[in-house]
Amino acid sequence: MLSVSDAEAIILNLVQPLDCQLDTEIVDLLTADSRILATPVTSPLDFPHWDNSAMDGYAVRYEDVQHSNAEQPAILEIVEEIPAGYQPKSTIQPGQAARIFTGAVIPAGADTVVMQEKTRREENRVFILDAPKPQEFVRHKASFYQAGTQLLPAGIKLNASEIAVLAAAQCPQLGVYRRPRVAIFSTGDELLTIDQPLQPGKIVDSNQYALAALVRQSGAEPLILGIVKDDPVALEKVIARAIAIADIVLSSGGVSVGDYDYVDKILESLKAKIHIRAVEISPGKPLTVATFATTDLINRVSTNSPLYFGLPGNPAAVLVTYWRFVLPAIKKLSGITEGWEPAFLKVRSHDELRSNGKRETYLWGKLHLIDGVYEFHKAGGSHSSGNLINLAQTNALAVLPVGETLISPQEEVQVLPLIS
Ligand code: AMP
Ligand code: MG
Repeated sequence: MLSVSDAEAIILNLVQPLDCQLDTEIVDLLTADSRILATPVTSPLDFPHWDNSAMDGYAVRYEDVQHSNAEQPAILEIVEEIPAGYQPKSTIQPGQAARIFTGAVIPAGADTVVMQEKTRREENRVFILDAPKPQEFVRHKASFYQAGTQLLPAGIKLNASEIAVLAAAQCPQLGVYRRPRVAIFSTGDELLTIDQPLQPGKIVDSNQYALAALVRQSGAEPLILGIVKDDPVALEKVIARAIAIADIVLSSGGVSVGDYDYVDKILESLKAKIHIRAVEISPGKPLTVATFATTDLINRVSTNSPLYFGLPGNPAAVLVTYWRFVLPAIKKLSGITEGWEPAFLKVRSHDELRSNGKRETYLWGKLHLIDGVYEFHKAGGSHSSGNLINLAQTNALAVLPVGETLISPQEEVQVLPLIS
């Protein structure tokens, strides 16, 4: 059986990122948050656009004030007042200064700003009570960014700070990668939809809801294909449809060793190459990962080859395998150039954590911030892969590597924070 890290490496290696030319769209800046930039951005504007003041104070010539102090202040004549947003009219001559405000343009002739707290004003004269440093409080034109150089590279996620930069650079529209399409369906004769009355032996399909939420949080577009019976004909039909329309397919159930677990056989009959059948992980051991040659696909909407994840059926196993294997794959596919792999933190465990040591074991719980240090609190109740109730309100998975059977309270543990 494959180790978790080998499975992760195989999966990431199978993912072809979206194409920076074919798989893009134009979006308005106001709707661009969390999208992945597909085209690098260059601005024709310098930042700052012009020399401007970082303080409310007086624009002066350094030469005039370099020896100034409270006992022997330089006394300068104020020739102009420059609020933010106005173009100065005068050139500052020896012995002169301009009243200036934060963000306002430095007038010609001046090279330094003295903050107003270091001055005294008498009518149209200003007394400089403390010598500034040369060029102090001047934000020089192009000192933050030079026009024509790259402002933002392709392959980054657009968060508020990038959006602010793009607004300042007057980019109302942007080229971003299209959202990855992720088809989702559930398999099992025992499954009911959310609105069907419960019958003996049946269970409501929760996996599809969980996966749709996770996929949407990742920035991808979920394509919901419903519930499919444990029936080879029905399964083949839905798998064929899913691989035609999606970049990634997520099915749950039907990949274990039971008599009604048909998914692997149907993938083979559809000429899939199966790369993974089981992983040393708990929960989540039965995990199928397969690819298809694009030449075998009829009516395929995209040029890349779809990646198939046959996730286990148990709800906790679905969530754990999604976070551990599927999310990194979606991230790599999405065009983002780094940070696909899950980021583990080392934190203190509040509780005793146990495993049988045979598989890499994931226990769900909550990270609490205590005196600035994260502490992992294991969720109470059963950690059976069939239990999903105590997964609610958790935000992290603690990991016990193979061979590790016990982590005592207050010991260090690796955790995977559950963020998209
Ligand atoms: P399977 O791997 O198909 O044998 O599924 C294992 C178990 O997972 C089933 O017995 C169900 O209890 C549960 N299960 C399967 N599919 C779902 C689903 N879509 N939603 C909730 N539970 C499921
Ligand atoms: Mg099943």
